[in-house]
Amino acid sequence: MAPITTTTFDPKEVTVVFVLGGPGAGKGTQCGNIKRDYDFVHLSAGDLLRDEQKREGSKYGELIQSYIRDGLIVPMEVTIALLEAAMKESIEQGNKGRFLIDGFPRKMDQAIKFEESVVESKFVLYFTCSEETLLDRLLKRGESSGRIDDNIESIKKRFQVFKETSYPVIEAFEAKNKVRQINSDKPIDDVYDDVKKIFDEALL
Ligand code: UDP
Ligand code: MG
Repeated sequence: MAPITTTTFDPKEVTVVFVLGGPGAGKGTQCGNIKRDYDFVHLSAGDLLRDEQKREGSKYGELIQSYIRDGLIVPMEVTIALLEAAMKESIEQGNKGRFLIDGFPRKMDQAIKFEESVVESKFVLYFTCSEETLLDRLLKRGESSGRIDDNIESIKKRFQVFKETSYPVIEAFEAKNKVRQINSDKPIDDVYDDVKKIFDEALL
């Protein structure tokens, strides 16, 4: 007998688009545009982790901080629990259940676990960009972001983790024909023109 699997949310009622790409690819910026025009709630895994890290009384604060500084992937239990809680809260507040999940999943175990236990994704929006541009953007952002990982040592580690750990996730979704790829090595408005084509076509 086939095992009965139930996810927290019904994929007919809850829409999830994963937004992936190297650090500095423009995920957050483009999610802001999509959210404005297509009625999505934007959940950034990195922002949720940073909020949890700062939260008084969090037992994960130090762990999160050290993983982020080293550009490593925080153990999935923490990130998935934060995402699931944020999704539940958003729906309780009356939102429709349309989510852009930005910067997640970036490791295969997270992708499998999230889709098995929370909800299956609709598709993956994947921003590609040259490493040269990514480095420029991150160093520029580092001048004002206050992020502990926008410095050259952390950035190098993040690039390596992206190639070794996160890229295989994109390949796995590609094998299922779920990746919509966009070149983000261009000005914000030009990139967004391409994003809009994808969302208009997906009837979202
Ligand atoms: N991170 C993580 N798991 C995730 C998403 C982010 O551990 O699912 C951590 C990881 O250390 C990463 C950092 O948070 O390098 C910053 O992620 P964010 O998405 O904010 O950075 P971006 O790639 O958008 O510049
Ligand atoms: Mg980001």
